[in-house]
Amino acid sequence: MVSGPGGVGKGTVVRQLVTRDPSLWLSRSWTTRGQRPGEADDAYVFVERDQFEAEVARGGFLEWAEFLGHLYGTPVPRPPSGRDVLLEIDVQGAAQVRAIDPAALLVFLQPPSGDELERRLRTRGDPEHRIAERLAAAAAEGATAAALDAVVVVNDDLDAAVDELQALIAARRAVAAESARAAAERDPS
Ligand code: 5GP
Repeated sequence: MVSGPGGVGKGTVVRQLVTRDPSLWLSRSWTTRGQRPGEADDAYVFVERDQFEAEVARGGFLEWAEFLGHLYGTPVPRPPSGRDVLLEIDVQGAAQVRAIDPAALLVFLQPPSGDELERRLRTRGDPEHRIAERLAAAAAEGATAAALDAVVVVNDDLDAAVDELQALIAARRAVAAESARAAAERDPS
């Protein structure tokens, strides 16, 4: 899971990560937020609130959360076999996934500074009142991430941040492989 304040560059980092590691499977979230100018059509499944609520009622989401007045949700993942699921998610959603899968890795991306975050938010076309809200939300998100033992990665240089994420994923996969091996040794059937 990758979390972090809006404008920190989560989307760019996760896209780069799946390009480098094709065994990762990036989930596409649903949102009731409108599409931003210039935002890719497949950035989210953009839906109306009633459609989102119907999907919640149907049990179609692994988790969902409200963020600054809009709903965001992760459809129950159905990755092809052998692929690891990658979620770009807010910290409330990350807490829900952790409750389901305590071993899930959570990385919290941080900007190099608060000023840089504000600059990035302004360049991507969010309305002015949203920018102030997002800056206030960023501090609270950092505190929740710390409570979830998130690993902090500073997104200053894109390649370096993606390198760090790849190293963290490799380490987590090694731990998972070792516990699977130990479990098979205990119970060879
Ligand atoms: P944005 O509007 O900037 O695209 O996203 C706002 C926040 O919602 C970000 O923190 C983003 O990571 C989070 N988010 C995106 N998809 C999901 C999701 O499926 N579930 C949850 N809980 N948060 C999401």
